[in-house]
Amino acid sequence: MPLPRATTLAHRILADQIPEGSCVVDATVGNGHDTEFLAARVGDSGRVHGFDVQLAALQSAKERLRAAGLDHRVRWHHGGHECLADYVADPLQAVMFNLGYLPGGDHALITTTDTTLRACSSAAALLVEGGVLSIVLYRGHPGGAEEAQAVETWILGLDAAHWSVARYSPLGRRREAPSLLLASKEPRLA
Ligand code: SAH
Repeated sequence: MPLPRATTLAHRILADQIPEGSCVVDATVGNGHDTEFLAARVGDSGRVHGFDVQLAALQSAKERLRAAGLDHRVRWHHGGHECLADYVADPLQAVMFNLGYLPGGDHALITTTDTTLRACSSAAALLVEGGVLSIVLYRGHPGGAEEAQAVETWILGLDAAHWSVARYSPLGRRREAPSLLLASKEPRLA
């Protein structure tokens, strides 16, 4: 069996980390795969906040969620995830990023290092203890390698006393394939 893609592995790992009733964020809605996964996990008492700067992406994702009967669990935000804290005040159980451009969408509308780092910092601050941040990185497009490096550097800078971090990366000829970064906020002792 082939090894899982970074996006698939993110779902497998997060599935255990999102109890029903959680409030979570899909920071890059794109085609809505992550939004649908999150909406299924949080249940009717939970909430997903979905962000994207492409209206067309939000519209088709919304259609996907409606078809799955999950649309009512999602608040859609047409705007940049760097403004996360302006829209979401609730403590978050999980925040997912899937960076780069949307295949089939506008390839000029890629995530950028500066806004991605700002969004990651906001997400880290809003996570509950026991919450998890998941970031799928792409190095193959212009600017992708720089963004990936910056996010890895940022994640390594998280206080090791309170965070555990991990990376799943392809090796060898497949090194341009996406990689997955995870950061879990550990409970502080009273
Ligand atoms: N590269 C992935 C898909 C990534 S989709 C793959 O190959 O499967 C990334 C999404 O992020 C796009 O829909 C894009 O519109 C969105 N995006 C770009 N900048 C953003 C920002 N600042 N805030 C929120 N979404 C953003």
